[in-house]
Parts: sequence; C-alpha cells; structure tokens
Amino acid sequence: MEPPVNLLTFTQDELVEFFARSGEPAYRARQVFAGLYQRRLQSFAAMTALPKALRAHLDSIATASSLSIESRYVSEDGTRRFLMKTHDNRPVETVFIPEERRDTICFSSQSGCPLQCTFCLTAQLGLLRSLTAGEIVEQIIIALNDAYGVGVKPPRGINLVGMGAGEPFLNFDELMKALGIMADPGGLFIVPNRVTISTAGVVPRIRELATMPARPHLAISLAAATDELRDELMPINKKWPLEDLLSACKEFEKSLKPGERVTFEYVMLNGVNDSDQQARQLANLLNRHGLRAKVNLIPHNPADPLPYVPSPSERVEMFKAILESKGIHSYVRRPRGRDIFAACGQLAARRENNLAGVALN
Ligand code: SAH
Repeated sequence: MEPPVNLLTFTQDELVEFFARSGEPAYRARQVFAGLYQRRLQSFAAMTALPKALRAHLDSIATASSLSIESRYVSEDGTRRFLMKTHDNRPVETVFIPEERRDTICFSSQSGCPLQCTFCLTAQLGLLRSLTAGEIVEQIIIALNDAYGVGVKPPRGINLVGMGAGEPFLNFDELMKALGIMADPGGLFIVPNRVTISTAGVVPRIRELATMPARPHLAISLAAATDELRDELMPINKKWPLEDLLSACKEFEKSLKPGERVTFEYVMLNGVNDSDQQARQLANLLNRHGLRAKVNLIPHNPADPLPYVPSPSERVEMFKAILESKGIHSYVRRPRGRDIFAACGQLAARRENNLAGVALN
C-alpha cells in the first residue's frame, strides 16, 4: 500500500499547490504550514483552527508525521538519543545535545550509510535508504518538541548539525530541500547560518555547495593526511583522493564569509593516525593548500566490534599543540552521549539489552 502523502516533504509553496488541487484556498495551506512548523503539531486533529471536515479530509489522504519514536535514551551528560522508525521500518536516529550557550540537534540524512569508514559504527548497517526531506525535517520537530515542549521556541535558538547517520552529500537534493523548508520564516525559521553539514568528501557536491547563495557551513571528515592511510580508513578516498578533496575545499573557501572557516574533523585513533609526524603531515597538507582551516579533533568513540582505541588525552593535546605551532586552529571535541550510543560514529540503531545489532523486518 502507498503511504499517505507526507506534508512535511512540501515547501510552503508546494503545500499551497497541493491544497489548490483539492480546491482549498492558499490561506488554508498557510494555516497548515504554521500548524506544522510554528506550533509543531504532529497531527491534523490537533489543528483545531481548521474546519472539522478539512481535518478529516487531510487525515484520509495525508500525514503530518511519518516517523514513529521507538525509544528515547538519556545520557548522564543530558544528551538525548531518539531511535525512530520510518513508515517502512527503517531506523532513524537523532541526537539532542544540551549546551551552555545554544543547544544542538544532530540529525541523520540516511538510514544506515553506504560508506565504509572503518572507525564508524553506522557503516556496519550498510545503506538502508536515503531519507526524504520530510523525514529530515521531522527529526528536528521531534527533538524540539521533546526538549522545549510542543511549539515552544528554543529560548536561545538552536544549532543543527548534519552529522548523524549517513552521508548527507549522497542525499543532496532532499537535504537541501529540508534545509529550505526549515529556513522558512513562516515555519521553523532555522537559517542555514545555524546549520553545519559534514561530509566524508563527496567532491562534486562541495563544489556545488560553494555556488549556492544560502548555504550551510561545511565540515569535512578527514581522519588521515596521506592517501595511503585515508584509503584504508575511509574508502571514499579512493574515489576522491586528498588532492581532489583539498582543491575543492580551496574552491569552497572563496565562498566563505569573513571569519568563517572550513572545518576539518579528525577522529583520533590510538597508534593509527595520532603520532607527532602525522600531526605535522596534517598541518603541512592544510598549509600547502593555503586553507583558512579549523581542525576539530574528535577522540574516537569506541564500540564493539570497532577495532580501535581512543588516543589518550595527552596524545590528543600533543597533536593539537603541533597543529597550533604550525598555525592551524584546532579544538578538541568533548564526547557527548557515549553511554547511550549517541556520540559521533555511534549511531547504529543500538537498543538497550540488545547491543549486538538491529533486527529489521
Ligand atoms: N558521513 C558524514 C556525516 C557523518 S559525521 C561524514 O563522514 O562527515 C560523523 C562524524 O563522526 C565524522 O566526522 C566521522 O569521522 C566521525 N566519527 C565516525 N566514527 C567515529 C567514532 N567511532 N568516534 C569518533 N568520531 C567518529
């Protein structure tokens, strides 16, 4: 059976068209758009300003919510992980990270992931499928409603990071559509400037993003500074090796605003990519391309059956000091939500009491 039309996949203009096709005036469509995104209502029944007959009609042809929450895990550090299911039973995970200044929501762009990065747990799922724009947007609605209450505005605004499961740039069109829907001032009004998308290095999309007027910030997952090691850790490097990747970043740099930098993420794997020499290689690589870069060092989040151990914190600090001594700004990312499988690279639909894997039917 065809699933009902998910209204969250429509921009406001598309919603107006959709309503027009059943003879409904534009203001009704705008009312529904406001219900979906300003009041963040997840059912038509809750949209009590609409005539009853219209609510019943919408219920018969469409839906305001296509994800169902299977579980919600809360970390000792306050991080929350939502494990959800699509209408066709694919797992989707979203993480809410409370922060001192502005809270962050980390969303997924795909169910599972086709890339085979050896240090990432999501890779073990393989690609189940790409998410629709509606499924991306709904993750944000669910996390916001849970954190602040239904329809309540985040008091200090919100940051979004596309750093959950999947490779965002292998689902580029739906991702960009979702960001457009979220940016609508008549809805969530989360502007691209509050959004960072992370890619493992899909070079043509980096170049394309650079040409877009309203674009999110960009982060690149590097993990290694030589092709030899990066081929091994991130097989996508065989398709788009470091020279291609960094020249695309150099191109992207032209689109940066003053003060904005391209961020590189570098997962720290004990004895694999964390030596002094490797720090120098990384700094030289970035400097050779003359990049205005910032490096985020991410202590590896270990999980069975990943074969790596996190670098000790003194090693991470030493690595950072070497980068800094060569003029590269760097930060150490504090792991959040490790205890509930919510940290970077840990999203693999893990369930409590069933930490061995995921049963899909
Ligand atoms: N596919 C995209 C989006 C995922 S972002 C990308 O690769 O950028 C997830 C981030 O977590 C990436 O920077 C990745 O390198 C990092 N990561 C993956 N597994 C990790 C792990 N086990 N510990 C720490 N960071 C990890």
